[in-house]
Amino acid sequence: MAASLDWTWHDANGVSRVINVSGTMTSLGGSVTAPKVAQATADAMTRFVRIHEMQAHASQTIAALTGAEAGFLTASASAGITLALAGTMTGLSPAAVEALPKSPGPRNAVAIQLGHMCEYGAPVTTAITLAGGTVRPVGQSTVAADYQLEAACDETCTAALYVVSHHVVHYGQIPFARFAEIAHDKGVPVIVDAASEYDLRGFIEQGADIAIYSGHKFLGGPTSGIVAGRKDLVRAAYLQNIGVGRGMKIGKESIAGAIAAMKLWMERDHEAIRADERAALELWSEALAPLSGITPRIVADPTGNPLDRLQVEVDAQTAGASAATFARALGERDPALIVRGHEVELGYFQLDPCNLRPGQAKAVADALTETLSNGRALQERPEDLSAARNGGVEGYLNWLT
Ligand SMILES: *Cc1c(COP(=O)(O)O)cnc(C)c1O
Repeated sequence: MAASLDWTWHDANGVSRVINVSGTMTSLGGSVTAPKVAQATADAMTRFVRIHEMQAHASQTIAALTGAEAGFLTASASAGITLALAGTMTGLSPAAVEALPKSPGPRNAVAIQLGHMCEYGAPVTTAITLAGGTVRPVGQSTVAADYQLEAACDETCTAALYVVSHHVVHYGQIPFARFAEIAHDKGVPVIVDAASEYDLRGFIEQGADIAIYSGHKFLGGPTSGIVAGRKDLVRAAYLQNIGVGRGMKIGKESIAGAIAAMKLWMERDHEAIRADERAALELWSEALAPLSGITPRIVADPTGNPLDRLQVEVDAQTAGASAATFARALGERDPALIVRGHEVELGYFQLDPCNLRPGQAKAVADALTETLSNGRALQERPEDLSAARNGGVEGYLNWLT
């Protein structure tokens, strides 16, 4: 049996069996690392080190990966946003760092387009206020104009934050290069939340002063955040570890693992991975095509990542159950099949192949066929809609009840 269908570890630890076709989800444990990455974390765990020295090594690797001058690692991308913004307020003054978040001084506004105010598990605005920043919305949800950003970037504005994500509004926003140009004309640094983007160089190339990535998404590292950019701002962000960053610290094991993951990324056979993903999508598409009321469609990633997904469109009348109910039912199987349900109220869910383990594609096809051909046997439940949006607030509220 393929190792990925061997559930001995799950069973021994009382942890439910999960097949992840939803993407990289904090609620499912982020990503699964390559053996080399796991080994790098294990090797670091049994040794003492000098953290600043390891972070300097991380900086070199981040520079090679992103083209930035420098970088460091922290607990998560969300932490990276907070630290980067805090750094723009404090520079290299330790006293200013210790004064955060309560006393950021007069220059603490963070300009962000309203359509970028997303939630990625927590509101992005919380990452701003945690730093001591004041959220300064630019435009309305579906339209932001150059003059609005210009006006927002006044002498009280410490940074302009740009979010790249499938979670943001995808039209009517100021394109990145223009956004950076306007902010720079007003002397305001540009911070990019690119947590889930494969493009590790483009934002820096187009003028981002800092770009932030998750180490545990497509990079396949341990839970971590990568802060890359201008050396002065990276150093100021790093200094926050004596202040608001303390609770966001990264350990030696994750630094070692993230460095290993970044190095592996640079030598990864991306074409071969895409071919495997494509084969899985086609297998599932073929399995679903004959089912009545079910329309499988391969769709491109909305932010242009080199990743396609299978969108499973459900005609509830014909199929016997709604997309939300199917998604819930798939999640109740053993092993659980966790699908991508962010947009389930629109009548579809998606299957994301990026975290599929070797040997799982066929198991997924079989589970889909069995559950989706049997819609009439399923009972709709009022909570199906929220349950299908995995990782939501219910998981927290229901914990230990
Ligand atoms: C995932 C994500 C985050 C949060 O990343 P973590 O590393 O889990 O904190 C922030 N912003 C965007 C756009 C994301 O996709």
